[in-house]
Amino acid sequence: MTSRPHPSPATPRPLYDPATGEQFGTLPDTPAEQCAGIADRAAAAFPAWAGTAPRERAAHLRELAGRLRQDRDGLIERERRDAGKPVARIGGEVEFAARALEWFAGQTLQPAGEIHPGETGVRSYTDRIPLGVVAAIAPSNYPLLMASWKIAGALAHGNTVVVKPSPDTPRSVQALVGLADGILPPHVLSAVYGGAGTGRMLCELPQIAAVSFTGSTAAGRDVAARCAGSVKRVSLELGGKNPLIVFPDADLEAAAQATVEAFTGNTGQMCVGASRLVIHEHVHDAFVRRLLELTARRTIGPTDDPATDLGPLTTRAAQQRVHAAVEDAAGHGAKVHLPPGHDSLQPALPPTHTGGFYVTPVVLDDVPLTRPAWREELSGPVLSVTTFRTEAQALHLAHDTDYGLSASVWTTHAGRAEEFARRLRAGMVWVNTWGDTEEPVSVGGIGHSGYGRELGVRAADQYTHTRAVWIGTPHRPEPPQDPHPSVGRTHPGPLDADSARHDR
Ligand code: NAD
Repeated sequence: MTSRPHPSPATPRPLYDPATGEQFGTLPDTPAEQCAGIADRAAAAFPAWAGTAPRERAAHLRELAGRLRQDRDGLIERERRDAGKPVARIGGEVEFAARALEWFAGQTLQPAGEIHPGETGVRSYTDRIPLGVVAAIAPSNYPLLMASWKIAGALAHGNTVVVKPSPDTPRSVQALVGLADGILPPHVLSAVYGGAGTGRMLCELPQIAAVSFTGSTAAGRDVAARCAGSVKRVSLELGGKNPLIVFPDADLEAAAQATVEAFTGNTGQMCVGASRLVIHEHVHDAFVRRLLELTARRTIGPTDDPATDLGPLTTRAAQQRVHAAVEDAAGHGAKVHLPPGHDSLQPALPPTHTGGFYVTPVVLDDVPLTRPAWREELSGPVLSVTTFRTEAQALHLAHDTDYGLSASVWTTHAGRAEEFARRLRAGMVWVNTWGDTEEPVSVGGIGHSGYGRELGVRAADQYTHTRAVWIGTPHRPEPPQDPHPSVGRTHPGPLDADSARHDR
């Protein structure tokens, strides 16, 4: 693969409001030459930023966090319009983005290495050095939040950043970079816009030292392959097909409530969302009934209505993908359960919103384990259910996927909770809870869910090189001085060499 520019944009890209399906604006892709120029300037800004005193970098990041909070309403409106998120749910994401910036500000003052026991005549230690220009390629499901995690980690550790948001949801990141303009030195943080072509180009540009990617597994594979050509550092936060496992001794009401949030939250467009329910056969019927009752209480509606819990999917393509997978599962014998009050995958909406990319949450029972609804990440509010009898079956079903992002297990048996959690192969495991994420805790996947860690102290591995340093100390220390030079001696000095040696 060579570093060929992607085609320059002929027409600006349309932006759609997912709640209505209507186009509300356009944003042009950044032309190839301009992308290269932005990367050049980010590379030129790198040495000074890397050399900035940590306390000063921290102050910049804290100021940016403050600006995010001040501009909360504007950011909420952009996320609502671009991504189709309900207005009541976005504030928490803006706050989390600000907290990530603050947490990484604190990290700038943390020790960054170790001193090693060494041979005589040499001192050795390891420290961390920044990578250079980090390209942060962000997804459409949490546009501001995912970009902020990357930007905060990369900047705190001394890198400059070129961020590329999803072409479907670019404007919150655009606003963030605008806010940073008045705070960070020039070219320390910049943005480029476009789709896969722009992302590919970032992977191949020689000025870029590392790519921090969050998105689908298919795109992640391509990113890793393209970065291999120039041996770039890559981190991949990819998709998931995450299981939620319920044992019969679980607090079933708590588990049902968590499951509803796990499969319908953000309209199912969550990398860590649960899309597979693995449930003990004895509690299956009552649990699924309760799940549907609770799901029916979620209000599907216009995204600017504060009462709305569930908005649309972000794109029409996503809506079509979900429809196709549900129809496929039904065609292969799955039972399709809609929440009480719903009779179709297309929810009832005001006439202004019938063109929106909405989909009714759906529970699929008895899905053949070969079908996409069980195997593939659908990024929609679809839960595929299967039952188990034994713990071994439960674990086998939980692992019946190439992904390994998250898993949630529900049981009140302390020993089982510990043992089962220990055997789960996933980057994030929740026991009797689901979805907790905080900025000090490093997160990421295994298997087809990717590698690398965001947030927490492990983010340092993503955004720095460790460096080993040996300092030779050939100079031998002088012999210790006589501590009592005046006692019993009148002429200590060079002539007294024998006794000095003896003292040693
Ligand atoms: P996507 O893969 O379509 O796009 C993600 C980003 O990559 C976008 O900016 C896109 O323009 C760019 N891109 C696409 N193809 C590319 C290529 N070949 N080379 C370089 N860049 C490319 O994903 P999406 O639909 O925007 O986001 C949803 C996906 O992200 C889901 O799979 C979800 O699970 C995943 N995700 C993972 C995490 C995590 O932490 N593991 C977090 C959020 C989202």
